[in-house]
Amino acid sequence: MKPLAIFGGTFDPVHLGHLSVAWEASELLDADVRLMPASVPPHRPAPTASAAQRVAMLRAALQGQSRLTLDTRELERAGPSYTIDTLIELRAEQGARPLVLLIGADAFAGLPGWHRWRELFDLAHIGILSRPGVGVVLPDELQREIADRRVDTAAALCEVAAGNVIDLAVTPLEISATRIRELLASGREPRYLLPAGLFDDFDLLSPYRSRR
Ligand code: ATP
Repeated sequence: MKPLAIFGGTFDPVHLGHLSVAWEASELLDADVRLMPASVPPHRPAPTASAAQRVAMLRAALQGQSRLTLDTRELERAGPSYTIDTLIELRAEQGARPLVLLIGADAFAGLPGWHRWRELFDLAHIGILSRPGVGVVLPDELQREIADRRVDTAAALCEVAAGNVIDLAVTPLEISATRIRELLASGREPRYLLPAGLFDDFDLLSPYRSRR
């Protein structure tokens, strides 16, 4: 069965780094990928753009292809977006289908700060996306947790529904939403760091533009 991969984030805004790594992960795993914007990220400051604005940008970004889709369930739920709750829901919907949580290498290092983090492995595999420009040191408790979970091949993720960890060597793209917000706020136009669809409608990027 084709795995279902979930790529969560604030997407404030969605950029070509997100899209490229999600696309390559989908190819490497032969998986469908859902981009899942978070409403109130428990471990982060509030996003600059509203939930509706971030969804509008994601919709514009995903036009013209069907490999990556949008899942807005976390925005529809009240309260903080805990990944554990999302995975419990998805597991109930998907039965024994392998689920893969895609996480950038920087975010993965912070996993022990996530709500009920050890239980995530009961519900999904984790695919770690390489990300340049971030020196990642995994905390000891995380290293211990994943030591016996590591697998090298995508096929291994199809043998069981959850519990393995795989490194996904995606093309390194040093793009971050923080940098894009800074550029837009200073009046720059980072056209080729963002999906073209975000420039079709001037309003989409207005939450980030300087008001001068
Ligand atoms: P910010 O700069 O606001 O922190 P971000 O660019 O890291 O944003 P998020 O929406 O916070 O984007 O990230 C969602 C997920 O995408 C995280 O798992 C993050 O590690 C991953 N990610 C974001 N950009 C990249 C990239 N260029 N390469 C690989 N993974 C990425």
